[in-house]
Formats: sequence, structure tokens, C-alpha cells
Amino acid sequence: MTDGSGRGVERLPDRTVERIAAGEVVTRPAAVVKELVENALDAGAESIEVDVVGDGTDLIRVADDGHGMAREDARLAVERHTTSKLRADDDLRGVRTLGFRGEALPSIAEAGELTLTTAPADGAGSGDGDGPATRLAVGDDGPDVSDAGRAPGTTVEVRNLFADRPARRKSLGGPKREFARVSDLVAGYALVRPDVRFRLTHDDRETFASPGSGGDVDAALAVYDRTVASRSTTFEAEAEVDLDGRRREVRVEGLLCYPSVTRASGEHIHVAVGGRLVRDDAVRRAVDSGYGSLLPDGRHPVAVARLDVPPETVDVNVHPAKREVAHADADAVAGVVERAVRDALSTADLRRAGDVAMDLDSSLAPAEGESDSRLAGATYVGQFRGTYLLFEADDDLLVVDQHAAHERVNYERLRAAVAEEGVPTRPLDPPETVSFPPGEAATVEAERETLAGLGFDVAPFGGGTFRVRSVPAPLGRVADLDALRETVAALHAGGDPDDGREELLADLACHPSLKAGDALGEAEATALRDRLAACERPFDCPHGRPTVLTVEESALIRGFDRHARLG
Ligand code: ADP
Ligand code: MG
Repeated sequence: MTDGSGRGVERLPDRTVERIAAGEVVTRPAAVVKELVENALDAGAESIEVDVVGDGTDLIRVADDGHGMAREDARLAVERHTTSKLRADDDLRGVRTLGFRGEALPSIAEAGELTLTTAPADGAGSGDGDGPATRLAVGDDGPDVSDAGRAPGTTVEVRNLFADRPARRKSLGGPKREFARVSDLVAGYALVRPDVRFRLTHDDRETFASPGSGGDVDAALAVYDRTVASRSTTFEAEAEVDLDGRRREVRVEGLLCYPSVTRASGEHIHVAVGGRLVRDDAVRRAVDSGYGSLLPDGRHPVAVARLDVPPETVDVNVHPAKREVAHADADAVAGVVERAVRDALSTADLRRAGDVAMDLDSSLAPAEGESDSRLAGATYVGQFRGTYLLFEADDDLLVVDQHAAHERVNYERLRAAVAEEGVPTRPLDPPETVSFPPGEAATVEAERETLAGLGFDVAPFGGGTFRVRSVPAPLGRVADLDALRETVAALHAGGDPDDGREELLADLACHPSLKAGDALGEAEATALRDRLAACERPFDCPHGRPTVLTVEESALIRGFDRHARLG
């Protein structure tokens, strides 16, 4: 996002200044970083480096490769209410840039020692034609201007923040806490702007770096980890809704992690509106609702939702730190988000782009809206390493994890059986005994009914020991005492018998499932394919991991000749 750099920096007339919500911008180090990062994004940066020393009051440095500024503009930029992004008559509604108030740089310069080094991208250079770049050190009586060398872009350094504001300084939470806030902010932007490369260091050590590839999965890998990145799917939807009395187009896209990856707070639902990272509780709730019953109570997903709404339907000026926005019709926008999330999760596509995708610049993204019938009609190619079943479907290669797929099949059959007539059991003759630690023993006592419903007939034998008289024997494979131990552990940890039940069924489904290394013939492989395709949710295993990966032929083409990309 750029500010359409044709405009130079100008002073806003008082009338406009008054319309801009007053509010102190510079409340803590993370707030400084936010303003500087947003300026860099407004300048069209493709790469942004943020360095923090200590709690941020020692040094904050933000360097970008955006369009930079000519010397006169740089001089004006550090004055109050000067901006290149808003003109006298502009309505604050419809703002397309992240900044518009023209108060960040001067406020920061007031709170700390600000140095700005900038070189314009067009090479028009520094006012008097001395050097390619301008260095501005803002002091008490105006900026001290000198020449400098720099590639196009801008670096802003802030030292000794709050040096003369002891109360502010005291209110800070120490280096760990303050850096955590900075880290959250930069990570948030890395997630909502995967097209921009971010690098963050603390005390000269790199804490994370995103590749700027444009891929949501790549960004998630940088910010989170391989588990989160690999258990996620991208999504994209658009809809026309009534927003301000007119039909308006709302677009939403981003990343949804599988329900097996959850968090206790909604903070991991990252929302951007018009490219601005915001705290939008309505949108967060909408994402939660889209997951619906896939989420355990009180848990929230890891997700990224980038909303694109007509700028004139958003008021960006409702929060002093521009951390929130107001939609003309928040319910309508939330409705679009909720439907988009629900559709993305319920259609076939809980498959992931996969690890390969990351190595090939996300070129293996799963095809959207894939149907079960394509899986059912796929041609068996063979088995790889006794673990993966390969199928050909049109131009794509489908890779089925035989264990995960069998788990899904077993899980759904087991669930159906339990719903109808309980689990088939196998008596143990003679009964076996098993001991549990005190807490779990109490759970066994309390949940004997539940366990019986699952096929475990257990009777107390004294002192934490139980006799097991029967075990479940789903699908002809007899569960063992380890399955009982896992079941009891899950019940013990779960608390809620109903929640626990699903978990238990998943565990039970796991036990008798095919293992990696089990050789399968073609008949068995295609039987598994058919049963999987007939499942309600064929594309994720009961633990939420994917069962099928899609490798598009185009990805292989690119992979083998990466320099001959055609588009
Ligand atoms: P605002 O972002 O609200 O316009 P700021 O005080 O943050 O106000 O910045 C003032 C002006 O300085 C901006 O409008 C922009 O023209 C210029 N500017 C600030 N940071 C940068 C940057 N990193 N690259 C290019 N121009 C910048
Ligand atoms: Mg700004």
C-alpha cells in the first residue's frame, strides 16, 4: 500500500486537525514501532527491519525500502500535523493509508531522540543536491539536517525514549514484557502482510524473520512453527452485502488452522481491515463462529483474516492509536466472515499445502472447493514407503496417509456403531488387572458407565487396581490395556464426559488402524480410498491432521524448472 507518492508533505489546516481524534500516540515502545512500521508500509516497503534494544527505551530502529522522502518533505514530516496522506478537503472516511494524522513522527520526536535517514526512490535527491540521502536529527530547536548515504528507503531511530517522562517509564513492564508487545505487533503485521519481508531483532539477536513470499503458510511458519503452518489451509471468499444502504462487495482471505490447533485466547485470530492490523472483536467472534462445534469450549483458533471492504464504509478514526475501526454495518461484515470460514472448513479442504509447499514458495497450495468425488474417482498409482498411497486425479497427485485415512474411516464407523448399539466388545478370560494412580483411579470409579459404553467393563479390585472383564473390539481388532490407560487419561484430563467421548473415540479409532509400514495391495488401497471418500469429513483424521495432500502438476513443473515460471 502506498500513499500515491506524487503528493509531497503538506501542513493540514486547523479545521482538519480538529477533526482528527486527539490522543497521545506514544504510550509505550510497541506504539512507536507500530507507527513506524505503518509508515514503512504506507511507503510501499517490501522489506521492513525492526531492531529493539532492552525494553525499547534504549533504541528502536525501523528501516524500510519504501519510496523514501526528498529533503524538504523529510523536514516537513517531523513537524506536527504534516502528512502526505490527507488533504485539506479529504473526508477521513475513505482513508486508504495506515497513517493520516501527521502526528506520529513529531510525537515520537518529543518523547525521545529521533533520527531519520531517508533517500527517495526516484533519485530526485536531497533538496540542495549534495548527497543522495538526508539525515535529520530532531532536537529541541528544530531538526539538524545533514547529508548521508543510503539506498532508497527510510530508517528511523529512536533513542532514550521517555528519558524525561519518569512516570511513563515507570509504567513500562520491563524488557521481556515490552519486547513481547513489539513482537506481537510485528508478528501480527507479518501475518496480515505476508507479501512484506519482516525481520525483528532484540539486543542484536534475530527473533524472527518472515520471507515476504506472499504465502500465508510461509508467514505462519515464520511466526508460529511447523505444526501450526502444516495444519492450516488458506481461504478466500467474496460476497455482496448491504453495508451503507448500498450493495457492497466484501472480500475476506487468509489462513485457518485445523481445529486440532487451538489457543485459550482469541489473540491468535489476526485481523486486518484494508491492510491495517486491527483488534476487531466482531470479526474475531465471526471467525470463532465459523469454526462452530469444531472448537472445544473456550478454545479459539489460530487464524488470519484479511478483510477488504470499500474504504468509505470504514471509520478508521475511532481509536487514538488507530487500533480499532468501525464498520458501517459490522453485522453484515461479520456474516460474510463467518460464512467464509464455515465453508472453507466444511468443504473438502482440510487438506494442507504440506511441507513441500514451503520449499517451493507455496506453489503447492491445495485446490479450493475440492470434492469427495474426485478422491473416489482417483486412479491408484502405488504405495510409497509402505506408508503413503498415491493416486492420480486429473492433473494432480493425491497423497494419502494410510494411517490417518484409516483412522478417519474407523472413527466414523466407530462413532456410528456407538450411536446405534454401543461398541462391540471382546471378553477377557481370564480378566486382566490394571492399576491407576489415585487421581485416575477416582476417574475410573466415577466414569465406569462411560467406560462401559465404550466397551471397557472394569470392576474395582481395591487400592487403585481394577479388573478388566471386557475391552472394545471395534472392526475386529481387539483394543489393549494401553487403550484403556489412554482412554482413562483422556477422561481424567477432559472433565466433560461428552467432550472426552469424541477424544476417546479418536483414540480408539487410532489403535486398530493401519500403521506406517503395513504393506497394502491395490484392492486394499482402493477399498480404503472408497471408504475415505464416503466419510463425512474425509480430509482430516480424528485428531485434526490431514489425511490427503494434493500435489499439483504445475507445482512439479515449477519445481523442476524454477526459473521458467510463466505466471
Ligand atoms: P502520517 O503517517 O499520519 O502521515 P507521520 O507523522 O507518521 O504522519 O508521518 C508524516 C509523513 O512523513 C507521512 O505522511 C509521510 O509522507 C512521511 N513518512 C513518514 N515515514 C515515512 C517512511 N518510512 N517512508 C516514507 N515517508 C515517510
Ligand atoms: Mg504515520
